[in-house]
Amino acid sequence: MTLPAEVKTLSDPKEMAGYLQGVRGETGKSPVVFLPETTAQVCDCVRYCGQENLRFVPQSGNTGLVGASVPDTSDAMAVLSLSRLRERFELDLANRSLRVSAGFRLSEVNDRLADHGLFFPIDLGSDPMIGGMVATNTGGGRFLRYGDVRRNVLGLTVVLDGGEVLELGSPVRKDNTGPDWKHMHIGTSGWYGTVTEAILNLEPVVTEQATAIVVPASNDAMLTLLRHLETRVGPLLSAFEFMSRAAIGHTFDHASALKNPFARGEIPETALLIELSRPTKAPWDTPLEEVLEAVLAEAWERPEAPIADALFGRPEEIWALRHALSEGVKSAGPLIAFDLGFTRDKVIAFRADMARKLAQDFPMIEVCDFGHLGDGGLHFNLIKTDGPNEPGFERALRDYVVKQVVEVYGGSFSAEHGIGPKNLRYYEAYPAIPDDLLEQQVKLFRARGR
Ligand SMILES: Cc1cc2nc3c(=O)[nH]c(=O)nc-3n(C[C@H](O)[C@H](O)[C@H](O)COP(=O)(O)OP(=O)(O)OC[C@H]3O[C@@H](n4cnc5c(N)ncnc54)[C@H](O)[C@@H]3O)c2cc1C
Repeated sequence: MTLPAEVKTLSDPKEMAGYLQGVRGETGKSPVVFLPETTAQVCDCVRYCGQENLRFVPQSGNTGLVGASVPDTSDAMAVLSLSRLRERFELDLANRSLRVSAGFRLSEVNDRLADHGLFFPIDLGSDPMIGGMVATNTGGGRFLRYGDVRRNVLGLTVVLDGGEVLELGSPVRKDNTGPDWKHMHIGTSGWYGTVTEAILNLEPVVTEQATAIVVPASNDAMLTLLRHLETRVGPLLSAFEFMSRAAIGHTFDHASALKNPFARGEIPETALLIELSRPTKAPWDTPLEEVLEAVLAEAWERPEAPIADALFGRPEEIWALRHALSEGVKSAGPLIAFDLGFTRDKVIAFRADMARKLAQDFPMIEVCDFGHLGDGGLHFNLIKTDGPNEPGFERALRDYVVKQVVEVYGGSFSAEHGIGPKNLRYYEAYPAIPDDLLEQQVKLFRARGR
């Protein structure tokens, strides 16, 4: 089979280079990069790969952090880039939904929606594309309010590896006519097909925000404060993020333009980013800055105040620090990063326990963590500060940490970044559901036909 001439491809190593390297430096090899512009062309590409016996990896914005968006080093794996797939951008204002091709960047989607007072409510420090966001089920900093991509996808168009096109779900929000098959393609890294379009739920843009950096009185005080805020301001709370001293310190070293908000520049052991926000403000509503000051003052007056200090500031400045943490930590030295998920209380217990255990068993490691405490997400970043890079060191450290996460704390070894080569070993060790059982379930459902 030959590929139709209108499908663009790259095979010059210089032109392909950007498609072969991931954000964490992982580099693959590939004989060809496909650049389809329509769903029909994606079908052509996957059929071609099938006939030529060529494995392929779908790639969107290539901002993924588990090495899954680039080919392996065999030079026998094609890249199916969705970056030119921009056929559709169909806004349904009445339904507050958008049908959009997989190759649009998140920033572009939100820029185009801004005039309509709407946005796709996933917020993070990178600028991925819609297809990749679906495949990784992106979380982000405002998960607490809006949930993840899964919660905000109404429908998908997916091309299976045989070239069949499936329309799964629809703009209809209420539909209870069987299993919601689109979820097979959300957060499964393209294993079951390539996403070419998504129908997204949109939310009214936020017009009022109030943010503060809060220094908690102790580790346990963080959850006391979170519960206090949820009780007192409920849905106004849109972010409750924590940042460790080490992560903040390395970020200031890396990004000197960032403003250090702390008294005398002294970074506390832990700092929380707290945000209240809302899309509309009625004339009788108290300004959110006053609401935030008032609820924090209430917490301060509790018998065992969970707050040691609170710094109020412009949301853009405060979020600039939070969004710079990933790159700040990365710049600090050899990084072994984990993206973990726990129940909220276990985040605190795990951090304290691991600080002790790692100091004893891996003393050359510095913990530079931060995360989304409001939803139990922890970016547990370890920097190797000392000693030669012995073979097997990283594997031993990864196995050690993941064992604690899953077996001791009942947590997830991949909260929001997916599986990829970095996590495959743990996916096999701790399978959510064995593949043969999944196949059996699908067959059973079909046989029953109801
Ligand atoms: C600075 C920084 C901050 C980040 N912060 C967060 C955060 O807060 N929360 C979070 O969840 N993530 C975060 N990430 C990770 C990353 O941005 C997300 O995982 C993102 O959603 C990936 O989208 P992408 O378009 O870049 O996908 P890619 O990196 O191109 O691909 C990711 C995976 O999806 C598959 N894939 C891509 N496109 C398709 C498709 N159309 N169909 C099927 N499979 C496909 C790929 O094969 C790969 O397995 C961050 C990354 C960086 C660099």
